[in-house]
Amino acid sequence: MIIILKQNANPAKVEELKQNLIEQGFNLHLSEGTVASLIGVIGDTSHLHEDWLRALDVVDSVRRIREPYKKANRSMHPNDTIIDVCGRKIGGGNFQVIAGPCSIETKDQIIEVAEDVKKSGAHLLRGGAFKPRTSPYAFQGLHEQGLDLLLEAKKATGLPVVTEIMSAEHIHLFEDVDVIQVGARNMQNFELLKELGKVDKPILLKRGLANTLDELLMSAEYIMAGGNEKVILCERGIRTFETSTRNTLDISAIPMLKQRTHLPVIVDPSHAAGIRFMVEPLSLAAIAAGADGLMIEVHNNPEKALCDGAQSLTPQMFDDLMKKINQTAAFFQILN
Ligand code: PEP
Ligand code: MN
Repeated sequence: MIIILKQNANPAKVEELKQNLIEQGFNLHLSEGTVASLIGVIGDTSHLHEDWLRALDVVDSVRRIREPYKKANRSMHPNDTIIDVCGRKIGGGNFQVIAGPCSIETKDQIIEVAEDVKKSGAHLLRGGAFKPRTSPYAFQGLHEQGLDLLLEAKKATGLPVVTEIMSAEHIHLFEDVDVIQVGARNMQNFELLKELGKVDKPILLKRGLANTLDELLMSAEYIMAGGNEKVILCERGIRTFETSTRNTLDISAIPMLKQRTHLPVIVDPSHAAGIRFMVEPLSLAAIAAGADGLMIEVHNNPEKALCDGAQSLTPQMFDDLMKKINQTAAFFQILN
């Protein structure tokens, strides 16, 4: 339920109302906007009388949220959420590019790619240490050693780092990681999501291969319900009947999510396409559709990559793409 407060509501009376609701066992989500201030009431509100609330001096109106996701709901927080990663803001008109290899392979590889993507203007570095692979015989990532190498690349370049977690048991290893990624295959690993709800770090939550937007938002809600409201959503392509691309990038997910939620929405064109040449057009399309950022795979030697070489850009290709990304982002910023 959302309680919209009157513009010049008496602060003492607002406080009294908040205390009353807390005593009734509700969790409150407060949002102070320039136009209106809201109290989001979270919990079983079926017995909360709207007439009682409407009769209060400080209350302008009362609305029930129909959707099962409450904290992620745009109506709970009309302004875009802006997530700050070491000074790089994502959301609310702030656009960021995350780039790097699919997996961390060697010290030279991750540092070389990190330096290259930084030179081209990437804002954050990605690299997987725990890799979810379809085959148990495929390269599984360097695990702790991979995280150490990623942190060395962070130190060398100053780029904040994003890397995937596969098990709640590993959370303690991610202490110096700036953004924890939940991959498509773990989008509905609810025990992992609950644990990440207790972490004070941004979570990059990727859409599952065959999950609806409502399911993605409910997974975000799991993290937020635990107290961590720093969730970045990522559209990375879904399974369709089309086989000419690895997945099908659901461009319509971007405006639809942005209408339903205040959380930032970024796009991963690399895993959507699975083919290098499509990364550029999909990146530009994502910007045009309103994405708050992009995550792009870049490898210094894609032909020898241990994972996802076919979709990885060379540093030179990424450099060329960054110029077009910047021009396109600037164009759409002017337009909006
Ligand atoms: C990745 O980002 O390396 C990855 C495994 O992506 P996804 O979970 O979207 O498949
Ligand atoms: Mn990959």
